[in-house]
Amino acid sequence: MKKKKKITANIKDVGGIPVARLLPTAQRRSIGAWCFLDHAGPAVFAEGEAGLQVGAHPHIGLQTFTWMLAGEVLHKDSLGNELLIRKHQVNLMTAGRGISHTEQTPAHSREVHAVQLWIALPESAREVAPAFVHYPDLPMWSEQGVDYVLTTGQFGAYSAPTQQYSPLLGLDMIFKTEQAQRITLRADFEYGFLVLKGSLLIEGVRYEADELAYLPTGQTEVMVQASVDSHVMLLGGVPLAREIIIWWNFVGTQRTQIDQAVADWNALSPRFGSIDTELKRLVAPVPPWSA
Ligand code: MN
Repeated sequence: MKKKKKITANIKDVGGIPVARLLPTAQRRSIGAWCFLDHAGPAVFAEGEAGLQVGAHPHIGLQTFTWMLAGEVLHKDSLGNELLIRKHQVNLMTAGRGISHTEQTPAHSREVHAVQLWIALPESAREVAPAFVHYPDLPMWSEQGVDYVLTTGQFGAYSAPTQQYSPLLGLDMIFKTEQAQRITLRADFEYGFLVLKGSLLIEGVRYEADELAYLPTGQTEVMVQASVDSHVMLLGGVPLAREIIIWWNFVGTQRTQIDQAVADWNALSPRFGSIDTELKRLVAPVPPWSA
């Protein structure tokens, strides 16, 4: 059976910000350990609009990976971190056994444009201590009319500092001219090309903004034909070894792990720490298998 290659987004409105969700969808659950993929914005806020205001919520079993394209977001977490993320920076928050955070547009910022991803932690790292790292300086270069930023992993001669628990690639590409590019791939990786703007032609199929091209393992290169000013994010990784369960902001391999996290968060367990914030604390919904 031929695998369906084009993944289309579920479009949502999150507090006035257009969000295109590419993972998980009915067509695909994950690409490597990348198990959640939202393209948020671009959105511009009018004077008096609050922008993004996400109250305190927990995570387990995953890393949140924020790739900022425009605007600023204030991050606060239960480890005491509080900082602004700006254009061309990555925030990597490792939830492990439990962390909580808030995300909000600061009063001085009037726009947001970001790619929000989650990375499923391998079984060996499920229970690691929570951690947060901000990466303000990532490898950036231009070659043959393409501007690159490497957000995680290795590509060509470049290597990103971003911590990994499983082999991953995150590569931001802006094609300055209409052109064809041959891109070298790892045969043990599966890949997704997310079009943020413009269009890409890959193996005879055209992908427009908020469409994701899926490439299974086994390919060592691919030819892409980009329209002028196309903006693309290439994601890759070794396919997950086992199925995962995603419920609300939790990732696990067993329902009991999710049930425990829901109960702990809603009981104000110290497992998830606390945050100095005036934003509303979110309530964890009970999963359907326990309702
Ligand atoms: Mn979160």
